[in-house]
Amino acid sequence: MKDSCCEIDDNACCDSKVSEDTAICKECGSKWKPVNRITLKSLVKEPTLEAIGNPDGFYFCETPDCGVVYFNNEQQVYLHKDDVKARVGIKETENPVPVCYCFGWTQEKIFEQIKQSGFSTAVREIGAKVKAGECTCDIKNPSGRCCIGNVNKVVKRGKELYRVS
Ligand SMILES: [Zn+2]
Repeated sequence: MKDSCCEIDDNACCDSKVSEDTAICKECGSKWKPVNRITLKSLVKEPTLEAIGNPDGFYFCETPDCGVVYFNNEQQVYLHKDDVKARVGIKETENPVPVCYCFGWTQEKIFEQIKQSGFSTAVREIGAKVKAGECTCDIKNPSGRCCIGNVNKVVKRGKELYRVS
């Protein structure tokens, strides 16, 4: 049994030494975190995956307006939205914008709840399922990590949008 994906410390993935440049997306110039091979193998389209050969040492670019999703500077491979099976929520502006991949929460669903009732049950519901060990972020979420941080941001944005505090 593996630990819940949400209990992984943000720095736990980075204990192997990486040079600064390895983690920098050359298309947007930002530094990002590594993704596990299991995430790549689950979410990259098969022909692309076959062309890559080695799914190790990739990073996930989170810049909203950067078209890169995964990159590997050592192999000099850059994968874009077209290479990935799932919609990458943080890079989408049109519906549906997925937020939680394990339990199907989208930005619209969260915004709609806030519009209707002034609050969203997303964090509570996702949190409960995570605690029950039902999440599989490593194979469903393009970031390979737990969505809760992102869900919180979307809830905050929704509340600003509909002016509820
Ligand atoms: Zn980028």
